[in-house]
Amino acid sequence: MSTEPSDFNVTPRNRLMRYPKRGHYDKATIYPILDEALVCQVGFAIDGHPYVIPTIHARLGDQVLLHGLKGGRLLEHIEAGNTVCVSVTLLDGLVLARTAFNHSMNYRSVVLYGSGAAIEEPAAKLAALERLTEHVAPDRWRDVRPPDAKELKMTTIVAIDIEEATAKIRQGPPGDDGEDLTYPVWAGVVPLPIVPQPPQTDPKQTIAYPVPAYVTPYRRPPRA
Ligand SMILES: Cc1cc2nc3c(=O)[nH]c(=O)nc-3n(C[C@H](O)[C@H](O)[C@H](O)COP(=O)(O)OP(=O)(O)OC[C@H]3O[C@@H](n4cnc5c(N)ncnc54)[C@H](O)[C@@H]3O)c2cc1C
Repeated sequence: MSTEPSDFNVTPRNRLMRYPKRGHYDKATIYPILDEALVCQVGFAIDGHPYVIPTIHARLGDQVLLHGLKGGRLLEHIEAGNTVCVSVTLLDGLVLARTAFNHSMNYRSVVLYGSGAAIEEPAAKLAALERLTEHVAPDRWRDVRPPDAKELKMTTIVAIDIEEATAKIRQGPPGDDGEDLTYPVWAGVVPLPIVPQPPQTDPKQTIAYPVPAYVTPYRRPPRA
C-alpha cells in the first residue's frame, strides 16, 4: 500500500491486493490521471447482468460528470441512484522482458466507485457541459455556439460523487532478475505517448478560419 497520505478511505472494495505497492489512494495522484484520460469505462450491474460502457467523462471537483442523450440505460441507471464503477487507463508503454512471464505494460489507471444524480438546473447543466467540452479540448467552449434550450433538454448530465478510488501505477523497465538478465534477447520499454496528427479541416468549412492554438498542437495532458 502507498505510504502517501490517503485522501480516500481504503476499504475492502478499493484496497489493491495485487502489487499493493503500486496502489495510491490520494487525490493528488488520482485526479491528474482522471483529468488526462479522454475516455472512461463505466461498469454497472442490472438484474445480475454486468455491463461496461465506454464514454466521455470530466472531473469537476470530487465528482465525475457523464452526459448523453436522454433515455440512455447507463445514465438512467445512475439517475436512479445506483452505484457504478468508473475506470480509466493511460497506457504509457509496452514492457518487453527477457522472459515471457515478465512482459507487462507501463500504465496509470484509476478505478473509482460512486453514485450520483442528474443535474437538472439549466445553469448547472451548462456549466457541466462546459467542463466536459473543456476536458476534451481546453479553451474550446469560448469559441463554439453554446447549447440551446432544445439541446439542453435532449441531454442528460449526471454527476457521480467519487466515494472511493484507487490509482495503480506501473512504470519502469522489465522486472527480470537473476540469471534471466543474461538471456540473449533485447529487453526494454516501447513508450506509447499520445501523439496527435495534423488536424483535418472539415470539408464543409468554406471559410479558411485559423486553426486554434489548442488544436496545433493538441496536447495530452492538457496545458495547466
Ligand atoms: C494496461 C493494463 C494492463 C494490465 N494487464 C494485466 C494482466 O495482463 N494481468 C493481470 O493480472 N493484471 C493486469 N493489469 C492489472 C489489473 O488491472 C488488476 O490490477 C489485476 O489484474 C488485479 O486484479 P484483481 O481484481 O485481482 O485486483 P485486486 O487487487 O483484488 O483489486 C482490488 C481493488 O483494487 C482496485 N484496482 C484493481 N486494479 C486496479 C487498477 N488497475 N487500477 C486502479 N485500481 C485498481 C479496485 O478498486 C479493485 O476492486 C493491467 C492493468 C493495466 C492498466
